[in-house]
Amino acid sequence: MTTGHVWWCSAMDGLAHAIPADQTAGTEDGFYQTACALLLTETTVMKGGGQSVCPACRAAVAGDPAGAGG
Ligand SMILES: [Zn+2]
Repeated sequence: MTTGHVWWCSAMDGLAHAIPADQTAGTEDGFYQTACALLLTETTVMKGGGQSVCPACRAAVAGDPAGAGG
């Protein structure tokens, strides 16, 4: 098993965000937490790739600490 995440599109910003593969079967509270700490729900997620990838998620899954500020 090499799948660490999937790319799902947010209906709110139209970007594809990285979601941990272990959440894709469903979560207890119905939320999906993206690699950029955005919370998506069944109603705000579009399960499929988007035209554009969220740069924060792309950096996060690449192991790049950029964007990990706060
Ligand atoms: Zn993101």
